[in-house]
Amino acid sequence: MITIPNKRTETEEYKMDCSHCKKTFAERLIQEHHCHPRFMNNKKGVGLKVGLCEKCHNILHFTIPKILWNIMSEDQKEKAIKQVESYSEKYGGIDYDDS
Ligand SMILES: [Zn+2]
Ligand SMILES: [Zn+2]
Repeated sequence: MITIPNKRTETEEYKMDCSHCKKTFAERLIQEHHCHPRFMNNKKGVGLKVGLCEKCHNILHFTIPKILWNIMSEDQKEKAIKQVESYSEKYGGIDYDDS
């Protein structure tokens, strides 16, 4: 016996507005952003959340490091540069094994 999966049409989908650009998207395309980001000691994801489209969410995450950079001391900036350099090189697949 052949079973046909239930088709869910686009029109049945809930629509949501992006809190930033105010454009309307299908609910599944709206991402929750934690105002207190999870990577900044908020593993449980507590606090206020905003619903953003993917584009606005990405832009916001690019903006957060810039804000942090502006309040760093020179010492912290030096450490941050080393971290980012090392991360970027690993991200680009450079093999670190010198042995
Ligand atoms: Zn948006
Ligand atoms: Zn986020």
